[in-house]
Amino acid sequence: MTRTQDIPLLKKQIAEIARLCWERGYIGAIDGNISARLEDGTFLITPAGTIKFLIQPENVVHCDANGRPMDGGRASSETAMHVACYHERKDVRAVVHAHPPTAVAFSLAGISLMTAVIPELVVTLGAIPTAPYGTPGTEELPNSLRDLIRCSDAVLMERHGAITLGVDLLDAYKKMEQIEHNAKITFMARQLGQVKELAPEEVRRLLATRDSLGIKTTNVLCNHCGNPMAKGG
Ligand SMILES: [Zn+2]
Repeated sequence: MTRTQDIPLLKKQIAEIARLCWERGYIGAIDGNISARLEDGTFLITPAGTIKFLIQPENVVHCDANGRPMDGGRASSETAMHVACYHERKDVRAVVHAHPPTAVAFSLAGISLMTAVIPELVVTLGAIPTAPYGTPGTEELPNSLRDLIRCSDAVLMERHGAITLGVDLLDAYKKMEQIEHNAKITFMARQLGQVKELAPEEVRRLLATRDSLGIKTTNVLCNHCGNPMAKGG
């Protein structure tokens, strides 16, 4: 777990990841929020209402475990989602929430990414479940996520965005990039024709390679048990 003396470094990394998300188009203007948890259960999070490419390390807000700012500043309006992630997952040390446009478009169209179509994604991330719609800025949003984040590091949020959980900031960011990259590939494939899912036996073979590749992910293909792959597996 991150030590409290690492706070300046973590604040710098949060500002860098915020800028990266903005540059890559995963966040527009003031959307999204990024946090990292310290060993004492408190966490650092991006401030409310700031354009993500302008965030400086000193703007990052230090919150207690319940999301209340400890040293002033105004924490992100979606801080409750981060509290829910850290509450549900003791192993998680960083959370990235963004609005990756292709992935969000899938949720607007009502098309699930909870399918096994790209082998690399099956191995590294599993499938991406979608949390039901919750009104932003209310308790509905964190509550809509709780079930899914217990068994998934990457969740799409209906009509809103995506949230990724990681062992550190780069790990959580990496999963956000994977969500959008794979949504783009799936989108393009759907323009070209029908997208076929991998056969259940191939999915089993792919999942069996995780151990030898040293991939430790919470995501499986039976998240929320609404996935047809669960029946195959
Ligand atoms: Zn959001």
